Amino acid sequence: MARVIDSQVLVHETAHQWWGDLVLWKSYRDQWISEGLANYASLLMLEQQSPAQFRQVLEKYRRDLLSKNKDGEWLRDAGPVTLGQRLESSHFPGGYTSISYERGTWLFHMLRSMLRDATLRESAPATRSRKGSNPDEPFFRALRKIRERYAGKSISTQELLQVFQEDLPRPLWYEKRPNLDWFLDGWIEGTAIPELEARDIRISEKAGVTTVSGVIVQKNVPDDLVTAVPVYATTASSAQVFLGEVLADGRETAFRLVAPSGARKVLLDPKLTILTTLK
Ligand SMILES: [Zn+2]
Repeated sequence: MARVIDSQVLVHETAHQWWGDLVLWKSYRDQWISEGLANYASLLMLEQQSPAQFRQVLEKYRRDLLSKNKDGEWLRDAGPVTLGQRLESSHFPGGYTSISYERGTWLFHMLRSMLRDATLRESAPATRSRKGSNPDEPFFRALRKIRERYAGKSISTQELLQVFQEDLPRPLWYEKRPNLDWFLDGWIEGTAIPELEARDIRISEKAGVTTVSGVIVQKNVPDDLVTAVPVYATTASSAQVFLGEVLADGRETAFRLVAPSGARKVLLDPKLTILTTLK
């Protein structure tokens, strides 16, 4: 594991040619973009070679962020990524590195994952199977736009999200608009690492249509945290079928989704694409 991370350092530094040197950050509050993006770019290369190692690195970051210092304080609580170098303190001597690299990397992974899931959800089955269609395209298109528009310039966190909002797939719209303010407020400027639970699940068949309903509970979160939660169901053959994304808004959110007939069990984010506290 340590060797995997060492070999990533070179790729990370190379990725700074784009994220940090070509595209600069506006203020100390935006420096996390350069670290998070350079680091995520290095992990994308790792993912191509070894998806398993890519997962292991993300899981290590999750454990780090959920660890406590010698005084029993959560690293998670050192502050949001937007505090930049001010995350360094006597309580958290490595605070800046841990939060901006590790939470920063997770934030980009969440953006990519939710764009991909929402794109899959949006595209009809016919388009989905069409050769060459790539559900990761919206994420990479946004990165290309950032590189083109901000080459030799600096970018702020708001401007970064503006680009991601431009072709935001419908399932991620909030209050009927292509709007990522909830991601900015709760995830970028917040520190939460929620625990998710599905409650009151009901699976019903009516006129040949199977629907799954229930409540998504977010624990250990501020009242207004919004999280895009991918919901899956298992089938008789124990395959996991993606049903859709639910924007869990606050502590409890009721949802209803159409499922394949024979759906058995509901799973929240089984592919571990969200920075949550695992039970
Ligand atoms: Zn760096």
